[in-house]
Amino acid sequence: MPEENWAGNLTYRARAVHHPGSIEEVQSLVAGSDSIRGLGSRHSFSDIADTTGELIVLDRLDPDVRIDPAARTVTASAGLRYGDLATALHAEGWALGNLASLPHISIAGTVATGTHGSGVGSRSLAAAVAALELVSADGELRWIRRGDADFDGAVVSLGALGIVTRMTLDIVPAYDVWQTVYVGLAWSTAIDHLDELLGSAYSVSLFTNWADADIRQVWRKSTADDAPAELFGAAPAVGQQHPVPDAPTEFTTAQGGAPGPWHERLPHFRLEFTPSAGEELQSEYVIPRRFAAEAITAMRELGPRVAHAIQISEVRTFAADSLWLSGAEGTDVIAFHFTWRKDPDLVLPLLPRLEATLAPFSARPHWGKLFAGTGEQVRSLYPRFADFSALRDRLDPQRKFDNDFLRRIVDRGVRRW
Ligand SMILES: Cc1cc2nc3c(=O)[nH]c(=O)nc-3n(C[C@H](O)[C@H](O)[C@H](O)COP(=O)(O)OP(=O)(O)OC[C@H]3O[C@@H](n4cnc5c(N)ncnc54)[C@H](O)[C@@H]3O)c2cc1C
Repeated sequence: MPEENWAGNLTYRARAVHHPGSIEEVQSLVAGSDSIRGLGSRHSFSDIADTTGELIVLDRLDPDVRIDPAARTVTASAGLRYGDLATALHAEGWALGNLASLPHISIAGTVATGTHGSGVGSRSLAAAVAALELVSADGELRWIRRGDADFDGAVVSLGALGIVTRMTLDIVPAYDVWQTVYVGLAWSTAIDHLDELLGSAYSVSLFTNWADADIRQVWRKSTADDAPAELFGAAPAVGQQHPVPDAPTEFTTAQGGAPGPWHERLPHFRLEFTPSAGEELQSEYVIPRRFAAEAITAMRELGPRVAHAIQISEVRTFAADSLWLSGAEGTDVIAFHFTWRKDPDLVLPLLPRLEATLAPFSARPHWGKLFAGTGEQVRSLYPRFADFSALRDRLDPQRKFDNDFLRRIVDRGVRRW
């Protein structure tokens, strides 16, 4: 039976979808296939996971969560969802440094696409990877560890280097988070105090439709009970909020300044409910933070021409890392996320215009979301892209893990279809 991605905008074309019960089974599936890829929790909007070959989903593997308190790491099955890993970690008094807006996503799929949360001092979820276990094209298992020559290229892998079966992630002692939502912040004030605003808490997100004079909501997640009575003139919201207008507020994590465990506040959405709007498409562009004010001004000028297609847009930040295909490779960044209406005929024609607006700011598209840029354009945004291609040539010379997305975006301008 054909399987769809979470958003339902893509039907996977795979001739078989396997759910192996052991890593040995993963190895023998890879060794015996000429075309195969990993599939996570299916939350990507782009065709990055799709293939006409076979897919491997790790949801039947033993979670095998092993905490190493001395090394401050956890090793677990890469098919585990962050929400499940977080629950296991918290029960033992440990935490991750950051989470995405939803806890429903698999570790392997999240890391492969450079997924991130928000916070000027927080890096992407991929940057917390200390080691990964890869089933490579010959079916052999190998560990690639931080410090190894291939490591920075192998973490944000786009699924191109093999099937990742286990990951080791950095952990910290468990901590509480206070979440407060503010409303009524004028964009003009936000621009005047941008660094201060974005750095005003552990994690800050601005929700906008780019056409209004006010930012609709500012979500401030703090590791201390320090919510100000007003944030640059904005007031704490009355009652629970959802960033998408008219969406059910019980789907969102507790606000109103009530403290709670890190994993019940850092994501915007609760594990037991549908994240975001449910009916949507998404895009996101990651921009060096030195261009933040200019890029916001450009987006606000474009805003009235795209607002009709936007359910909500989120502005957030994350810190530089050294992973070759990470949006934040080499630079602190600001990210513009778009939750679009679920109407490809409306949304897709807007992307070239939007990308042209953000191109002067070297905007890198999120690998797991919709974008229009060509391979040539995208490759030029990553100084280490040629090194990634060389790593792929070495680890997968027969292109066992290839798909249309990789042929379109990674291959050097050669269209093979
Ligand atoms: C409602 C919603 C909210 C979101 N919020 C955020 C957010 O806050 N921040 C953000 O940055 N992104 C966000 N995203 C995007 C999402 O995090 C990414 O699309 C991510 O890749 C999803 O992980 P997944 O497990 O669903 O991966 P999939 O879509 O299943 O796969 C993604 C890639 O990983 C590869 N892969 C999966 N498993 C393996 C494996 N075991 N071995 C090798 N390769 C593998 C696939 O081949 C594919 O290339 C959101 C998406 C949705 C739907």
